Amino acid sequence: MKITSIDVFALKPRYAAQAMRGIVCRINTDTEIYGYGEAALSYGKGAMAGFHMIKELAPLLIGQDPLRTEWLWKNMFMETFWGQSGGPIFYAGMSAIDIALMDIKGKAYKVPCYELLGGKFRDSVRAYASQLQLGWPDKDSRGFELQATPEDYARQAEKAVSEGYTAIKADYTCVTADGRMRDHDSMRGIVSREMIDTACARIEATRKAVGNDIDIIVECHSHTDALSAVQYAKAVEKYNIYYFEEGTYPMNTQTARNAARKINIPMANGERIYTRWQYLPFFLDDSIQVIQPEIANCGGMTECKKICDLAHIFDASVQIHVCGSPISLAAALQVEAAIPNFQIHEDHVINRVGFVRELGTVDMYAVNGEFAIPDTPGIGQELSDYALQTAYCETVQ
Ligand code: MG
Repeated sequence: MKITSIDVFALKPRYAAQAMRGIVCRINTDTEIYGYGEAALSYGKGAMAGFHMIKELAPLLIGQDPLRTEWLWKNMFMETFWGQSGGPIFYAGMSAIDIALMDIKGKAYKVPCYELLGGKFRDSVRAYASQLQLGWPDKDSRGFELQATPEDYARQAEKAVSEGYTAIKADYTCVTADGRMRDHDSMRGIVSREMIDTACARIEATRKAVGNDIDIIVECHSHTDALSAVQYAKAVEKYNIYYFEEGTYPMNTQTARNAARKINIPMANGERIYTRWQYLPFFLDDSIQVIQPEIANCGGMTECKKICDLAHIFDASVQIHVCGSPISLAAALQVEAAIPNFQIHEDHVINRVGFVRELGTVDMYAVNGEFAIPDTPGIGQELSDYALQTAYCETVQ
């Protein structure tokens, strides 16, 4: 089998296009088999840089055997100069290609990707309702709504719990008490009592509404720093927090280590850490207890599995980061099925709404707070006709 061409797509969801611009590639071969992968740059800035990164890497792939996944990964990592110290753009491009190659390999051997990764530990994964500061939207929602009052946060959590979720997550600090995005500079250093009190009131209302059996995850998005994160975490410890996410700058191992020593809640980090090499110092420092590798920018499906295995020997568990199109969601489920140290799956508001779900041919969603693991060959997901017809596409051959 030989790779003949690579199509690169910038998706255009029906609504909220600015909030989710998935970058997807399809690797075509000289057989009827092709594979899909995604570059996780669908939010923030950088999506089109990822689009062009895939195009830059494509000549390394054209004409090659797609089943030599490790050798092709090595070439992207070692033979590109920047690959060995790449950031989000470089590794998102590599990840899209690696996921697409694994999709091809699964289809070629007629097995789901989890079989290629060692086989299945579980048939479904427990999920948490993620990013409730944006509300917990219905399938037909056209966008997201910032939540303001403690009652708002409690109501959104109750809605998720009523659907069967046993865990929820929100960023309780990024929205002001009157419902505006908070100035990020004000969340660093010695922070105001007002910010901590606002967040605590929301968490307290949520805990009262859902009871003690529901797990609450606190997200910080690295808006806080090593000083404010510790102040904040100490104030919320009493609410029995499941884990505390991205409290410090994502790449500074020293501040992560210092904060972890002072905070009495398991620490989560990783959606902005790439490859085994970048994860290792965090493990050596014991500054991450729950890793959150983004499958579509950490190096892809094969690299994500290796990061998870590395985490295992340091007793760190895994919540793969998921916030993109149905392609990266499907790839994440395949790895989560195949690892011993799985913790919980992130069901992000982005992945829940219909205008993102319709971008895939298979509608993947949680039932009673659980995602079933697809058993179809490859990753078990493709772009829908709607996604293909509306996307901007370029082809390298
Ligand atoms: Mg996060």
